[in-house]
Amino acid sequence: MDVDGPIRTSPGAPARYRVRVRGVVQGVGFRPFVHRLAADLRLGGLVGNDTEGVFLEVEGAESALAEFGSRLRADKPPMARIETVEWTAISPRGEGSFHIAESESSQAVSTFVSPDVCVCDDCVAEMFDPADRRFRYPFINCTNCGPRFTITERLPYDRPGTTMRGFAMCARCAGEYADPADRRYHAQPIACPACGPRIWYDNGRPEITGTDPALLVAQRDLAAGAVIAVKGLGGYHLACDGRNASAIAALRGRKDRPHKPFAVMVRDLRQARAIADIDDVESALLTSPARPIVLLRRKTGGALAAGVAPDNPLIGVFLPYTPLHLLLFASVPGSSVAPPDALIMTSGNLSDEPICYEDGDARCRLAGIADGWLVHDRPIHVPCDDSVVRVGSRGEVPIRRSRGYAPLPLGLPFESEPILAVGAELKNTFCLGQGGVAWMGQHIGDMGRVETLDAFERSTEQFSSFYQVGPNQVAADAHPGYHTRGWAEDRGPAPVTLVQHHHAHVAALMTEHRIPIDQPVIGIAFDGTGYGTDGAIWGGEVLRARYSSFDRSRHLRYIPLPGGDAVVRKPYRVALAHLWAAGIDWTPDLPPVAEATSEEMAVIRRQLEGGLPCVLTSSMGRLFDAVSSLLGVRQVATYEAQAAIELEGAADGWLHEAPIYTFALGERDFDPEPVVRSLVHDLRGAAPPQAMAAGFHLAVARLIGDLARRERQETGINVVALTGGVFQNVLLADLASRQLEKDGFEVLTHRLVPPNDGGIALGQLAVAAASHLPCGFSGKRQ
Ligand SMILES: [Zn+2]
Ligand SMILES: [Zn+2]
Repeated sequence: MDVDGPIRTSPGAPARYRVRVRGVVQGVGFRPFVHRLAADLRLGGLVGNDTEGVFLEVEGAESALAEFGSRLRADKPPMARIETVEWTAISPRGEGSFHIAESESSQAVSTFVSPDVCVCDDCVAEMFDPADRRFRYPFINCTNCGPRFTITERLPYDRPGTTMRGFAMCARCAGEYADPADRRYHAQPIACPACGPRIWYDNGRPEITGTDPALLVAQRDLAAGAVIAVKGLGGYHLACDGRNASAIAALRGRKDRPHKPFAVMVRDLRQARAIADIDDVESALLTSPARPIVLLRRKTGGALAAGVAPDNPLIGVFLPYTPLHLLLFASVPGSSVAPPDALIMTSGNLSDEPICYEDGDARCRLAGIADGWLVHDRPIHVPCDDSVVRVGSRGEVPIRRSRGYAPLPLGLPFESEPILAVGAELKNTFCLGQGGVAWMGQHIGDMGRVETLDAFERSTEQFSSFYQVGPNQVAADAHPGYHTRGWAEDRGPAPVTLVQHHHAHVAALMTEHRIPIDQPVIGIAFDGTGYGTDGAIWGGEVLRARYSSFDRSRHLRYIPLPGGDAVVRKPYRVALAHLWAAGIDWTPDLPPVAEATSEEMAVIRRQLEGGLPCVLTSSMGRLFDAVSSLLGVRQVATYEAQAAIELEGAADGWLHEAPIYTFALGERDFDPEPVVRSLVHDLRGAAPPQAMAAGFHLAVARLIGDLARRERQETGINVVALTGGVFQNVLLADLASRQLEKDGFEVLTHRLVPPNDGGIALGQLAVAAASHLPCGFSGKRQ
């Protein structure tokens, strides 16, 4: 019989169990932990790794076994994640001692790769201890920390299956590796200055080898305003001094990235507090083993140059997570060069391309950007960008789920066939599912470039081979122009399930909350762009959704979208369309009208009046853009959602002075016309734009409450799922959630995968797994 713990018979009598542990239990110090625990409790038996996870046998008194069972979960090593533990009673053998068994191999692979985690406190202490043999060694790691996912070539996770296989252990490292009492027992990336990887620095003069000489010149170059490429854990970063305005300007120019905020790595939490307001949840995230970039409210008057995040109320901050980062922020012994406090650390790529991680490729692609190269010889096998999170009143909101999180598995609420879901077009991630488990891939990037498609293909192949899942079908977005859909149809395993974009958003959130397969929810999916079943661009949708199907019950009223996709970069054009739809004249006192040329307005007018082709949209993201333009906040955007982000920033702190605006609710749609009219009225009355921005956020939150109540009256459904890129706006998400909870709704928001298109693959997978019969856009095609 398999049970979740030892069965108590007679407490004094000896008993023996075979125990199977599944989850992230390899490469995380699980076997030595079990060994110590068993020895502590005077239990006999053995523990070993196989391709299914960890197996063990334990023998002893029932009371000790019960304690073993509870401490197995409670005291597990920090990087371990236990999914299941199964206990099977077997005959006692009278074994009194405990040992670690050699690795076995079997056919099924259901064990998991650990994500990379930051260097641990013990290793940091050793690295800064002059008496330690790893003093100032940039690749120090142990069983509890260091690279995992990014160096893994195949499973089971063992040194020969990682990119460390090229480094032969020295005798001392080999001794530590083999000693169950050592904290580096079976630490696969174990290394030291005698046997492990090393760094060097190259700035066009002869290469500088040796850790300290290399770091010294790198620090000197950074202080002088250079941009340097730094090879990290999952790829290259481009770094420059966060206080040096001209260095930042140079980096922006060379990267072709005029405004999009740069992430800032600061030396420690104290430096982080000098540039941003940080609450307890945020500081816990900053210092968590995943070390994500946390979007924080920026402090005015901090030491950072304004060019780090122009016009942006938020700043992305993270702490050093590799030993090399820590050394870069520390003084080199005997040197007078002051180490940096804050460095721009942005992904090493050109705009929209995937992150560079191979040395030759990086040298080629970043050649025009980097003045110097701080590199090392430990190969990166799996590229992985930094993760990004934000904190709202309901806690952590993932914005990009990548390093430190990927490839942690997510549990599915029901069984899935082996399916590959290919994700969306922007912020692409994919998802591979089988049985009750979904493996979300790391951030790939924006599709549409050959490089990104290559990265996508390579990563999906890696996952299939890691987990030995051969997908027999594929799920893709229904958008006929998406490269992911094209790939699925041309190169993916048949059959292809096409999943409507917003249905996938809602299904992702349902999966995250393990909503049962037959339970419907009220899905509020607000985002920028998603292909609708009627060919229009959707984005302000109320869906009565299950995994297998949905009804679109209501949507934001359609407006013609002048200029198609290019309009994303020109919020003032959307504002003109909303003004036109509301019957308001384009007078030059209105900011979007002042922004457009008269020729442009003539063309747009022809499009709106039907003289030129124009697609229809119900996009809530575009309405945020339009309001941002109307209030004079942002007319032209150079990165995604810039206008909406700045609108949210403008509203911050103005809720108490906000005017009341109200959408008109129809039977099948809801209309922003009265909101737009009131905004224009208040604008002409010289109301502060910040108050109006706050009023608009409140209006959308009230709209969500009204829509949910109507849905509940009509259907009896009491669960509301808030999803889509618009809900990266935590001001809106907080206001809407509070409103809904006050009305007695159960509110679902994203905690594990992003509300934006980076989370969509999980929803595609769930929809494909759940829908076995043809059903509109969510049906299967051969
Ligand atoms: Zn460590
Ligand atoms: Zn060594």
